[in-house]
Amino acid sequence: MASPQTPHVVIFPFMAQGHTLPLLDLSKALSHRNIKVTIITTPANAKSIGTDTENHPNIGLVEIPFPIIHGLPQGTENTSQLPSMEFFFPFLMATKQLQKPFEQVLQGMSVSKSLPICVISDFFLGWTLSSCQAFGVPRLVFHGMCVLSMAICKSVCAHMPHTKAKSVLDPIDLPGLELPFHLSVSELPAQLIQATDQNDPFFQFMSDAGQADCNSWGVVVNSFEEIESGTVSSFETFYESGARAWCLGPLFLYDKVEGINKPISQNQPNKLIQFLNDQVTLGSVLYVSFGTQADLSDAQLDQVGLGLEEALVPFLLVVRSTTWSPPNGLEERLKGKGMIVKEWVDQRRILSHRAVGGFFSHCGWNSVIESISAGVPILAWPMIAEQSLNAKLVAEGLGAGLGIRKSHDDLGSRIEVSRQAICEGVRELMEGEKGRDARERAQALGRVAWRAVQEGGSSHQALNKFIDQLCAFS
Ligand code: UDP
Ligand code: UDP
Repeated sequence: MASPQTPHVVIFPFMAQGHTLPLLDLSKALSHRNIKVTIITTPANAKSIGTDTENHPNIGLVEIPFPIIHGLPQGTENTSQLPSMEFFFPFLMATKQLQKPFEQVLQGMSVSKSLPICVISDFFLGWTLSSCQAFGVPRLVFHGMCVLSMAICKSVCAHMPHTKAKSVLDPIDLPGLELPFHLSVSELPAQLIQATDQNDPFFQFMSDAGQADCNSWGVVVNSFEEIESGTVSSFETFYESGARAWCLGPLFLYDKVEGINKPISQNQPNKLIQFLNDQVTLGSVLYVSFGTQADLSDAQLDQVGLGLEEALVPFLLVVRSTTWSPPNGLEERLKGKGMIVKEWVDQRRILSHRAVGGFFSHCGWNSVIESISAGVPILAWPMIAEQSLNAKLVAEGLGAGLGIRKSHDDLGSRIEVSRQAICEGVRELMEGEKGRDARERAQALGRVAWRAVQEGGSSHQALNKFIDQLCAFS
């Protein structure tokens, strides 16, 4: 239990699963090191965060109200609840209204002499920097990305290589950054190269967040140095203040390594684990999930379902769409060979199940690091945000996966894939030679990931140093 002298850290996640979950893992790792953590969030998000952290007495929650967004029902407080990505920008803008209540929380802490030694807040909550400065508290940023992808994004903003390229397929050069693969304009995140109009509100929002990022005290990264192939120091050059990028991950592994994860109510659908338990061949099942953000059309999901069926590989497909139902007769034909679920699943548990031998993934960074940590190779189908960069890192940089063949390779924004391409990709990953190499590589990287968070490992040491520096600073 925390005493009055216990160091105190405030964590303020962005309201998206992929941004919140790793910060909850960090909160638990800090709490295990006898640091008091206050997580700031909004009422609807507080429910799941409270359940996830209920066995950690050093973790407290403070709720601040979330504004109502025009066109969305009250209680829409997480990007995973948005009916489409069109609402993403209004959602981002709404989070700016959290500044006043956030400052009131800091004010309360100041009055009770419990100001934190630092605030760790999401990149999208860039305005937290000025609030922190007003209270003399260092702000650390969390991007939810790997160092390589962050470095590429920063470098593209600084050098604008897409404005000089003759063709979208030409390889681009990013001065000062050694990339472990060739990168073309078509592979850059669309939002990064489309938003160049300085009067565009999205551009302004991102540029303010970027400015605040660069003036923050440091960056917390859910990755480990061994896979960042020397880009950490290039990335740090974008922080003129001398901020460091702290590679502390895979954050979710601390739970497993240090045994801090006290059992909480398990709501995993039993039929799903039963399906995995029933598989007699180790590593035979393909797990398929495209995260909590990307919108796939129902027609595209049909191609996914049929392509998986055609590949004749047992699979577990998790779908977010509320409108899609499997094409004619598919579920009946699968008869124990494949399973389609629409609920939230415990992805980490699935990936570490012995029956699972491949992950067909959109390459959100959490999914990538969870898959690598479990030694599971990836069939990469990037969709939005920086996923195309993560996919390149997995497939070409690390050799722990394969890329899916897209229908329109020349147009970065097109993501359609046909059932044939899915079938071929799945077979190559699960049964082909390239898939076997990728699996060996993923398993080797998995061992490195686990070592990183164990005593003496790179992330474990970085976490200790990080805490020491912050405590000395306060
Ligand atoms: N996740 C999960 N169950 C689900 C869907 C997602 O546990 O049914 C978790 C997944 O393990 C990962 C996060 O949600 O930790 C998704 O983050 P990621 O960066 O992979 O993708 P995003 O959703 O941000 O696109
Ligand atoms: N792993 C590891 N050290 C451990 C446990 C797991 O390196 O102490 C990694 C390693 O990458 C391995 C993967 O996790 O390939 C899966 O391990 P295992 O099959 O033992 O997982 P389980 O089925 O026990 O969850």
